[in-house]
Amino acid sequence: MKICVVGGGAAGMMAAVTAARNGAEAVLIESNEKLGKKIYITGKGRCNMTNFCSPQTFLTNVVTNQKFLYGAINLFPPEKTVEFFNSLGLATKTERGDRVFPLSDKASDVTKTLEKELTRLGCDIKLNTKVKSIDINNGKIVSLTTTSGIVLCDKVILACGGASYAATGSDGNGFSLAKSVGHTVTNLYPSLVDIKTKEDYSLAGLSLTNVNISIVDYSGKTIFSQFGEALFTHDGISGPIILTASAYINKQNINGFTIAIDLKPALTNEILDARILRDFSINSNKTFKNSLNGLLPERLISVIIEVTKINPDKKVNQITAEERAILVKTLKNFTLTAVKIGDLNTAVVTSGGVSVKEINPKTMQSKLIENLYFAGEMIDVDALTGGFNLQIAFSTGYAAGLYAATEK
Ligand SMILES: Cc1cc2nc3c(=O)[nH]c(=O)nc-3n(C[C@H](O)[C@H](O)[C@H](O)COP(=O)(O)OP(=O)(O)OC[C@H]3O[C@@H](n4cnc5c(N)ncnc54)[C@H](O)[C@@H]3O)c2cc1C
Repeated sequence: MKICVVGGGAAGMMAAVTAARNGAEAVLIESNEKLGKKIYITGKGRCNMTNFCSPQTFLTNVVTNQKFLYGAINLFPPEKTVEFFNSLGLATKTERGDRVFPLSDKASDVTKTLEKELTRLGCDIKLNTKVKSIDINNGKIVSLTTTSGIVLCDKVILACGGASYAATGSDGNGFSLAKSVGHTVTNLYPSLVDIKTKEDYSLAGLSLTNVNISIVDYSGKTIFSQFGEALFTHDGISGPIILTASAYINKQNINGFTIAIDLKPALTNEILDARILRDFSINSNKTFKNSLNGLLPERLISVIIEVTKINPDKKVNQITAEERAILVKTLKNFTLTAVKIGDLNTAVVTSGGVSVKEINPKTMQSKLIENLYFAGEMIDVDALTGGFNLQIAFSTGYAAGLYAATEK
């Protein structure tokens, strides 16, 4: 049986390896000059390849269509991913939050490992070859028309990725291929992306640790709240909390929403006030602007002063209880105004894709075309950061490769 896998990313490579290991003649078609271009930039070049957790915990980190992934994640859970790579000679390590990385800290080693196994299995890898159309006869795919000619096939696995970081090859054209054969593609949204804000405090590069950030909509309702880290960018805010927030709020128009940052979440207003009062009494002759070093990162001090409108040159022993209350309020509720979520192209993942209603959740087989399967980010599933998205690619790739090769 000849199985053509379209897309040599994480999902496609896993699908081709699995199909070949299960007796199929696997052909892997990739439009780029090399395989796994996106893998190179994952985990800041270190590739957070999975999250070493149980399938149950895994699924709680899936934002869109959790239930659909139940079968694939149980069939090929994170533990199997680690075993798979370890057995091929790639040593791994598990870091904070169960995040798994190659021991070498090199994302390229993940791609190399998959590539070596594909070669060992005799998989036909066609680089610099883009699939332009899917050719159907009597309701079944018979061939693929590519930039290097027609490739005949018994079955096809589409693993073309999403529409983010188009320079890596996943430019959304896979969705057009899916649509051309009758599949529904849901609306696409950026996920795991920064938020642009109205204010420009020139804080780009400043990271905030141990803060709590809430996103509040027009009606004053808190629609997201989380403790952790954030990072100011040149035009907004990013970092772990914001990326997670984006996964939940990306379908709304967030223009005008409030991003409320509690810079001192461990302290109540009263305790924070007492702490400030103590600092002020120790430094009673200092000016306000020189009194906040113990409380705030250097670069944030002038911004907080600007927001409180307290005279920076005022001696702290002259600061009134009312002014202190304003300071406490600002530290507990430093606000930014959201303008919009970052662009799809700069998003870590694409939310939306081929409708899961049209895919068998056990086998990844199309419910519309018998000899078509899907794998990876092009399916309408997405998860949080922490290695979950690559694991989705590996699990769905494994399922598609296995069932395409073993089912009639
Ligand atoms: C900056 C960044 C960092 C990330 N870090 C992590 C991380 O640390 N951990 C994690 O779990 N996830 C991470 N992700 C997400 C993760 O990389 C993706 O979810 C995952 O790579 C998707 O794999 P895929 O195989 O489905 O798609 P892709 O990796 O996008 O692969 C699709 C492939 O198909 C090819 N292709 C497309 N159309 C055609 C066609 N018509 N013909 C031939 N080939 C075609 C493309 O060239 C591409 O190589 C990160 C993403 C980004 C952008």
